[in-house]
Amino acid sequence: MDKASKLVNLTPELTRRLERNWEEKKKKKPETPAKWGTFVQQLIVDTLDKEDFLSRIAPGFESLGIHNNILFIKDSKRNGTAEIYLKDSELYCEMDKSVDCDHIHFAWALPELAKLQLKKR
Ligand SMILES: [Zn+2]
Repeated sequence: MDKASKLVNLTPELTRRLERNWEEKKKKKPETPAKWGTFVQQLIVDTLDKEDFLSRIAPGFESLGIHNNILFIKDSKRNGTAEIYLKDSELYCEMDKSVDCDHIHFAWALPELAKLQLKKR
């Protein structure tokens, strides 16, 4: 192994979840890596690529994470923080008093959004 490489131990729970995900994807998507290591590394690359992409298309926005079931998005252009939460099972932005603003569009692209929804239901 290259000196710059690092081994990572996955918990049994995460391993089972990843294996299920891998098996499902192999059935549906022919481009899914046939090797376990390649599959796991590709998932990580995809996550980093998505973050890079988001910072390019929405340079003024930054996710500050979820607290008390509210997603906080820092908005540098407006020099404030948008609070996003579920209202009548729709995402709602407190800053714009809207369900359809740039913060909502940004929020939909964030992986942590799943935590907000799972926690509510
Ligand atoms: Zn907004």
